[in-house]
Amino acid sequence: MTDHTLTVAGVAVDTRHWIGGERVASAETFTDLSPIDGSTLGEISRGTATEAAAAVVAAKAAFPGWAATPAAERARILHAVADGVEKRLEDLAIVETTDNGALLRSHRRGVMPRVAHNFRFFADWLLRLGHDDFDTRGHTNHVSWDPAGPCVLITPWNAPLMLATWKVAPALAAGNTVVLKPAEWSPLTASLLADIAAEAGLPAGVLNIVQGYGAEVGSALVSHPDVRRISFTGSVPTAKHIAASAAANLTPVSLELGGKSPLLVFADADLDLAVDLAVEQYDNAGQVCLAATRILVEESVAEEFTSRFTEKAALLRQGDPRDESTDIGPGIHARQLEKIDGFVQRAVAAGARAVIGGHRGDGLYYAPTLLTDVAQDSEIVQEEVFGPVLTLQTFTSEEEAVRLANDTRFGLAATLATGDRERAARVTAQLVAGTVWVNCFFVRDLQAPFGGSRHSGVGREGGTWSFDFYCDLKNTVTAPKGWRDHG
Ligand code: NAD
Repeated sequence: MTDHTLTVAGVAVDTRHWIGGERVASAETFTDLSPIDGSTLGEISRGTATEAAAAVVAAKAAFPGWAATPAAERARILHAVADGVEKRLEDLAIVETTDNGALLRSHRRGVMPRVAHNFRFFADWLLRLGHDDFDTRGHTNHVSWDPAGPCVLITPWNAPLMLATWKVAPALAAGNTVVLKPAEWSPLTASLLADIAAEAGLPAGVLNIVQGYGAEVGSALVSHPDVRRISFTGSVPTAKHIAASAAANLTPVSLELGGKSPLLVFADADLDLAVDLAVEQYDNAGQVCLAATRILVEESVAEEFTSRFTEKAALLRQGDPRDESTDIGPGIHARQLEKIDGFVQRAVAAGARAVIGGHRGDGLYYAPTLLTDVAQDSEIVQEEVFGPVLTLQTFTSEEEAVRLANDTRFGLAATLATGDRERAARVTAQLVAGTVWVNCFFVRDLQAPFGGSRHSGVGREGGTWSFDFYCDLKNTVTAPKGWRDHG
């Protein structure tokens, strides 16, 4: 064991950057804490502009070789990465849970299999990408998907490896090289990914990982002139910084941001289903960008809904995320808990009523909270809390429901509970949202476009949309004449 390794539940994790196929340490470090009990996991290399520049240099140097690697070979290596993820699934699951506090059972059965799937899906999709050639007055048009160059990928802490690989996989599949900067509150699984990728035969410099703070190494990466794409998942304020830096170099950016999504419950809905959908919004302790945190219920069923919701939410077990029977783990960090509690206490001071919760628990746990008596223009209705805090408002007509649903600056997702197909179609057509779920929630398929409208994001990821972003499309027009072999 060296100074540069920490151990989580017997799993060794290198605490250094991964640049040009080598581990690189920084002079400075930052402390990584476990949200489960606040214990120190270790000291992680704290990158600066120097490591950012080195990583971009490595990505730039590796680009021509990787871009020229036949698509089938790139796909084969990405499948080998997926194999490695599957082989180390238990390690990845326990390290991620210890690092960010999300449920071990979700990591084992949902999230980490999905990480492997990200690599398999984009490897396979790459091989199916295409456009039929077409003819213009006897000239052939051929559209090709050229890799763009070094890509900087910046990711948040709420689903660290899943969100990172959702970008890494298509960027690499397309033939680009990557510099990934994971969030400083959950840096560990990215380091394991470096080990897995190296073992899978990904050439040195194709994937680089730098650790550290956004304002330091992150901002140096997004303002680097040799970067050809920036893909970011995180908060709106950070997105504005990144978009401004990118603008200076005209670097294309993809932004997946926050939300304040509505769950519309109509009187004609299956109320038990609607309650299940509402309680599901506490998943991952509410730290889900897509969470439908604004429950809008038709007035005639609001009392019944609230009472069934309260009964159901009382069954949720909050506790150690490593315990299979736990439903809600801790929040990520003391700062995040303060932020959550600040939102709730200000809402209560402004007249909101906590039907359940409304307070902190032990350590970094926040009691699942439902607030009523909230005004549409209040902070608690308009701003993303990113914790287990839901609001409930009522409506008396479909028009009012749609108006309330659309009345925030966000537009990431919306969920509808209704028994009326015509209503579902009518309402869906009017909602501003990148994803609408009808009588379901969180059914996700990588073939679908994913992203947000308004302040929830710019661009879409998934399927061909990911390759639209990570490729420079080229149309080659070839004349029928001028060929020596035709005389
Ligand atoms: P954040 O914006 O604070 O940080 C995200 C990442 O950006 C981190 O890696 C951070 O180090 C980096 N960063 C910070 N400042 C930077 C700068 N100036 N330059 C470059 N990089 C910088 O977000 P967070 O708190 O980690 O994540 C929570 C947010 O992410 C929530 O708003 C949530 O809704 C959003 N989110 C969105 C999606 C989506 O797909 N739409 C998914 C998950 C999370």
